[in-house]
Amino acid sequence: MKKFRYLLLTVSVLASSGLANTSSYRNLFEISQPVQVCPASLSDLVNMVRWADKNSKKISLVGANRSQGGQTVGQGDGLRINLCKLNHVVALDVSGKTVTVEAGITWSELQSVINGHGLAVKAMQSYADFSVGGSLSVNVHGQDLTNNPLIKSVRSFKLLTSSGELINVSRQENSELFGLVIGGYGLLGIIIEVSLDLTDDLVMERDVAILDRENFVEYFNKNIRNNPLIEFYSARFSLNSKSLLDQVIVVSYRKTNLSLVATEMQSGESASWRSLLLNQAAKFGLFATSKLGVIKNLRFAVEKLYFKSGATITRNRFMSFPLDSLPQDDSGQAYVLQEYFIPYDKVDEFLNVLKINTKAFKINLLNLTARHVNADHESVLSYALTDCCALVLYINVGKAEQAYQKVSAYGRVLIDQAAVLGGTYYLPYQLFGSKSKVHAVYPQFSRFVDRKKFYDPKEMFMNQLYLKYS
Ligand SMILES: Cc1cc2nc3c(=O)[nH]c(=O)nc-3n(C[C@H](O)[C@H](O)[C@H](O)COP(=O)(O)OP(=O)(O)OC[C@H]3O[C@@H](n4cnc5c(N)ncnc54)[C@H](O)[C@@H]3O)c2cc1C
Repeated sequence: MKKFRYLLLTVSVLASSGLANTSSYRNLFEISQPVQVCPASLSDLVNMVRWADKNSKKISLVGANRSQGGQTVGQGDGLRINLCKLNHVVALDVSGKTVTVEAGITWSELQSVINGHGLAVKAMQSYADFSVGGSLSVNVHGQDLTNNPLIKSVRSFKLLTSSGELINVSRQENSELFGLVIGGYGLLGIIIEVSLDLTDDLVMERDVAILDRENFVEYFNKNIRNNPLIEFYSARFSLNSKSLLDQVIVVSYRKTNLSLVATEMQSGESASWRSLLLNQAAKFGLFATSKLGVIKNLRFAVEKLYFKSGATITRNRFMSFPLDSLPQDDSGQAYVLQEYFIPYDKVDEFLNVLKINTKAFKINLLNLTARHVNADHESVLSYALTDCCALVLYINVGKAEQAYQKVSAYGRVLIDQAAVLGGTYYLPYQLFGSKSKVHAVYPQFSRFVDRKKFYDPKEMFMNQLYLKYS
C-alpha cells in the first residue's frame, strides 16, 4: 500500500509537469479536471486497478485527452489515468500488413514507424495526434471512404478488467467485449495493446468539384460512393452570409501508380514554406472570422482557388496533419465541435434546418464539412446503423457562459432534427443531448449499461458521459 502511494505520488508529479492538456479545442466551461497519473508499465497499471478495487475508488482513462465533454473525467477522488507512456510499437508484420501497439501511442507516433515500410493506417481521425486507445474507445472515423469506422480495421486487443485481469478480446475470443469496448468510452476496462490491419501507402491525386448544394448528394452517390479508385473524400460548405450552405466544394483523392519516393520528395520540399504560409493565413483567417463575420464571404472564394484538381499527396502524408493545423486564435475564445450522422436521403432536409437555425441562433460557424461513414453493426454504441453522411460543425463560441448556453441550445435543436430524420450524433464532444435523446438515437444504450455493470460490477470505470446518460 505504502509502495503504491509512493508510485502514485511519483507519477502525479510527472503528470503535473507538463502533461495537462490545456488546448482550447476543449471548451472553457468544462468541469475541472483532476491531476492525471501516468503509469510507465503494465504492472503499475495493474497495481492501480487493484488499489482502486480494494478501496472502492473510481478510475477514468485519458488518451490524448481531446474529447470535449468530460469523457476522460471521473468522479470524486478517483484515479485519472493517462496512458501516454504506454506508447510503443509491440510488433510489426510488414508482409502480413498488421501492427500491434500499446494503447497510449498516437497515430503520428505509429506513422513514424510504418511509413518507412510503405505501410499506412486504414482508418483514423482527420488529425494524427490522437491516441489509439482513445480512438478505439470512441470508434473514430475520418476521410477514408471504405475503411471507416475504425472498428473495421481492429483485429484484437488486450483489456485490463476491473478485477485486474488481462484478457484477449477479438471477434473470436471474449467476443461480446469486442463491440462493447470499441466505442465504449473506457467504461469496460483499460485497453492495453491493440492489433490493427494496415494498408499500403500510395500516391493519390486530388479531384475537385464545386457544386450547388442540391446537387451534392446526387454527385456523391454517382461519382464517389462506390468508386473503387477513391481513397479519401470530404466536402466543405460555403459559409457566406448571403449564401450560407448553398454551395459545396467536393474534394476526393484517387489512387495512382505514381512513385511514393518522388511524391514524398516533392511534397516535402514545398511542405515547409507552404504549410507555414497556409497555417499563418488560416490562423489569421480564422482569427478574423471569429471576430468579423464578413471575412467568411471572402474565405469561400479563397478556398475555391486553393482546392484545385491535380495535386498529389501520399496516403501517409495526408493522414499525418497535426491538430495545430486546425486554426484557432489564442485569445481565450472557446471552440466546440459537433457532428451529426444523417442518412443520405435526408441530408438536404437536415441542411435546410441547419441553415435556418445557424441564422436564427446567430452561430459563428467556422467550418461545415461532410464525410462518409459506413454502416457499423459491430459496435454496441454504433453511431451509424446505415451508411451516413457525417456533417461536422466547428463553432466559435466566444468567451461568455451565455454564448455557450446558446450553442448548447442550438446543438439540441440539431440533435432533435437528426433523430427525427433517422440519424444520430457523435458522443465525444459536449454532452448537449438529453438522456432520453441519447437512448433514442443509440437504441442499445440500455443494453450497454447493463453489460457494463455485468463486467464492471462496482462501476469502477467512470466518466461524465456515463454519469449523465446511464
Ligand atoms: C479538433 C478535433 C478534431 C477531431 N476530429 C475527429 C475526426 O476526424 N474523426 C473522429 O472520429 N473524431 C474526431 N474527433 C474526436 C476524437 O476522435 C475523440 O475525441 C477521441 O476520443 C480523441 O482521442 P483521444 O486520444 O484524445 O481520446 P481521449 O479524449 O483521451 O479519450 C476518449 C475516450 O476514450 C477513453 N480511453 C482513452 N484511452 C483509453 C484506453 N487505453 N482504454 C480504454 N479507454 C480509453 C477515455 O476514457 C474517453 O472516454 C476530433 C476531436 C477534436 C478535438
